[in-house]
Amino acid sequence: MLKCNQIIELTSKQQDTRLLKWERVEMTVHLWMCKTCRYYAKQLGVIQNFAKNIDKHQQSITLSTEAKKRIQDKLKSLQKGN
Ligand SMILES: [Zn+2]
Repeated sequence: MLKCNQIIELTSKQQDTRLLKWERVEMTVHLWMCKTCRYYAKQLGVIQNFAKNIDKHQQSITLSTEAKKRIQDKLKSLQKGN
C-alpha cells in the first residue's frame, strides 16, 4: 500500500509518462480511499488542462485594437472622475 506522498509523486509522473500497471492499480485504490489525494489529483488535472488550453488558444487571448481602445477610454474617464 503506497503512502500519500508516493501517490502524489505518481500523479506528477503520470503527466509525463505512462504508469506501470501495478502503479495504476495502487493509485486507483488509493484515490478511491483517500479524499486528500483524490482532491489533489483532481486539482492537478484541472490546472494541467487549463495550461494546455492557454497554450492552444494563446493567439485568441490577445486583445483586439477596439478592446484596447475601450480600456484606454475607460481608464481616461476614471482618471477624469478623480
Ligand atoms: Zn492519500
